[in-house]
Amino acid sequence: MNDTSSKRGFTTAILHSDRESAIEHGALHKPLHTSVAYGYRDARDLAAVFQGRQTGYAYGRQGNPTTAALEAKVNAMEGGVGTVCFSTGMAAIAAAMLSLSDHIVSSHFLFGNTNSLFGTLSEHGTPITFVDATDGGAVERALTPQTRLVFVESIANPRTQIADLARIGALCKAKGLIYVVDNTMTSPWLFVPKRVGATFAVNALTKYIGGHGNALAGSITDTGLFDWTRYPNILDHYKSAKPSLWGLTQIRKKGLRDFGGTLAATDAHHVAVGAETLALRLGKQCENAQALADFLAVHRSVRAVYYPGLSAHPQHALARELFRGFGALLSFELAEGIDTFEFLNKLRVVVLSSNLGDNRTLAIPVAHTIFWEMGAKRRAEMGIADSLIRISVGIEDRDDLLGDFAQALA
Ligand SMILES: *Cc1c(COP(=O)(O)O)cnc(C)c1O
Repeated sequence: MNDTSSKRGFTTAILHSDRESAIEHGALHKPLHTSVAYGYRDARDLAAVFQGRQTGYAYGRQGNPTTAALEAKVNAMEGGVGTVCFSTGMAAIAAAMLSLSDHIVSSHFLFGNTNSLFGTLSEHGTPITFVDATDGGAVERALTPQTRLVFVESIANPRTQIADLARIGALCKAKGLIYVVDNTMTSPWLFVPKRVGATFAVNALTKYIGGHGNALAGSITDTGLFDWTRYPNILDHYKSAKPSLWGLTQIRKKGLRDFGGTLAATDAHHVAVGAETLALRLGKQCENAQALADFLAVHRSVRAVYYPGLSAHPQHALARELFRGFGALLSFELAEGIDTFEFLNKLRVVVLSSNLGDNRTLAIPVAHTIFWEMGAKRRAEMGIADSLIRISVGIEDRDDLLGDFAQALA
């Protein structure tokens, strides 16, 4: 984004970002480019695009103009030097890990499929050490001379632990390590990982940024803070761009082109439309989540509530310092003797579903679903009780939402 637009507010900048580069016929939305291939009149230009000496499109697996417009939007939100989009959040995370890393130190507190992916990486020879990332000291003690990358979630899905974000950033900077922050649960409206020294901000665009549960997508943004000239794993032919883009070039080639998790233009369009209202939706969702957490916290049928906006949350002060709001996801455990499934089946407004970040409020018994496959031992390490219920809070009218919980708990 240029200088004038970077001074604009969050939503204004997103709404008008497509128009920064002239769109055909003055269209307000970037059109859907569904062409797989792009033709050239001069074969030298085609070769130059392939070799990274010239910008342009060649074959749709590495991107298309519609996806590029979404990449520009996410990049503006994250304040990055470049962004690559993928077909899903998982494709983005896998690409970041497989394109660059050696030994990885990761937070224990991870989205279930990220945990599963890291298990696969270990089997394929990438050692991973899991630590309690709410403690920067634990991260530091896990580092070895082989460590190349540290991975955390801003707010962990589903138990809402918050990583020691700034301290880990300072540590990674001092040691020259790649620092990946999965920003899905906060989104760049609540938190910009660049502020704590992240190398990459990863977003599952499927969740808050898309926001409507109608498209899967993911992204990786390079914040520009990492010195790629000192990183040993960049292939020589990916060094044609300026050094700040070397890491992202390798991710686009190895992680996107070779693994093939490409975002289709139609889904990029859906996410781009959703992104226009990110601040409006998430503002309302945070308000609803706080009201629901306050309600549940004092309810006698509820044993524990996990939400960063509650003063009893262990990282409440950190969340207040780092985030614009406390997020829209909470989890809780019912009091002894109340059956989780019977409670869930009584909900009328809330939908029993595994997505999060949708406009509708969604509930799921995580230990029996998303976190079932990993087994009881790993769940215990992640702090996930059998009765834990995750709520992704939507934009319903507050009284309808609280009323639904009140009747189901009665
Ligand atoms: C959902 C999610 C992902 C994966 O995103 P998909 O688009 O579903 O692949 C990654 N990280 C977190 C924190 C998530 O909630």
